[in-house]
Amino acid sequence: MSEDAARWQEWDRFHCWHPFTQHAEWGAGEDEPLLLVGGEGAWLVDSEGRRYFDGNSSIWTNIHGHRHPVIDGAVRAQLDRVAHTSFLGAGNPRAAELAKRLVDLFPQGTLERVFFSDDGSTAVEAAVKMAIQYRQQSGQEKKTGFVAFENGYHGDTMGASSLGGVSQFFERFRSFGFPVTHVASMEELRDLPLERVEDLAAVVIEPLIQGVNEMRPWPAGRLAELRAWCDAQDVHLILDEVMTGFGRTGTMFACEQENVIPDFLCLAKGLTGGYLPLAATLTTAKVFEAFLGDAERTFYYGHSYTGNQLGCAAALASLDVFDQERVLERLPSRIDALRCGLAAIGNPAVYEVRQCGLIAGIELRQEDRKRFPAEDRIGARVCRAARAFGLLTRAIRDTIVLMPPLCSAPEEITQACEALGLAIAEVCGE
Ligand SMILES: *Cc1c(COP(=O)(O)O)cnc(C)c1O
Repeated sequence: MSEDAARWQEWDRFHCWHPFTQHAEWGAGEDEPLLLVGGEGAWLVDSEGRRYFDGNSSIWTNIHGHRHPVIDGAVRAQLDRVAHTSFLGAGNPRAAELAKRLVDLFPQGTLERVFFSDDGSTAVEAAVKMAIQYRQQSGQEKKTGFVAFENGYHGDTMGASSLGGVSQFFERFRSFGFPVTHVASMEELRDLPLERVEDLAAVVIEPLIQGVNEMRPWPAGRLAELRAWCDAQDVHLILDEVMTGFGRTGTMFACEQENVIPDFLCLAKGLTGGYLPLAATLTTAKVFEAFLGDAERTFYYGHSYTGNQLGCAAALASLDVFDQERVLERLPSRIDALRCGLAAIGNPAVYEVRQCGLIAGIELRQEDRKRFPAEDRIGARVCRAARAFGLLTRAIRDTIVLMPPLCSAPEEITQACEALGLAIAEVCGE
């Protein structure tokens, strides 16, 4: 290892606090933490010069690959103008262009306003606060309740974690957040007592597939059904497309697949192509207009980096790449490669493969079809083994995530599936 790398590792070990990481185990034994120093296309390079396929799109963010010339160029060009200016009391050309481009991705007269923030959690926070204040300013003060789905994930800030349904992450904070009714299904939603439904402000869902819940797709038609229920009950629908947005499910947005338009749409991860933290909450003119009037109707919410010009420039360039490279048209061959590659693994430890577009979860279980004991950490061990075969990804418990960047060639996806097959065989046997 180079001297530089040794120093970085030491400073990381002593001074960094990593997300979702048990530091008592960080860097223990042979599980040496990676230092990622470079990337190109769907590949990443570590401090030792080893190359890895970016099998989870750098935690679900990367779209067109690393160091894409169009996005690199747009960010560089923006640096020659200005990096960041405040969006409080001033506009900027990149944010204006991006708002227009995002609105134009939806049918005219549906989602018309864009509120920028920094990441998925804040996109959700903004939607929740808008949903509450909208009711207060529409003579519906009683409508304060929220429904979210069990095992759903909407981010880690306190408001977003109140919506979260993954008990391992959120249970200890339950009493500190706002009350949310969690349901497992449409049936449970329909069975809610009338007085509860009357007091609801909004329902939030990850459309088509729950991500953190081990990549679990909803039954077909769920989203359209939920939209119809919300309309009938006068409840807003918040769609969290932080993971599913920007082509990941095979269409630009997951909601298109069931012809659903939400009242609030939350976008983040892939918005900048995976380059910079930027998020957007889109909503309707009707919601926006309820905030017009005297000072007390103002939406008093925002962040220092709202409308960041570098981030908006990257996002605009990412949308350009979607057009120039006809990215959506090229997705079916990649989605097929992922399906075929995963089907070819054929290891008895593969209990189930769940796929939605270019998102896949490969669940591993014991021979008797029971889950592995959590302390065996099979998922983490398989991902660790996959590194030696040139694949970098993460597991959610024992479900291995494979979510390649949209730019991956079908052959690269096939290779990544082969690498995963080898890693599973190494850890679980043939
Ligand atoms: C990642 C994610 C979030 C949170 O986004 P951050 O940028 O990590 O705050 C919210 N919702 C979904 C569905 C996500 O996948």
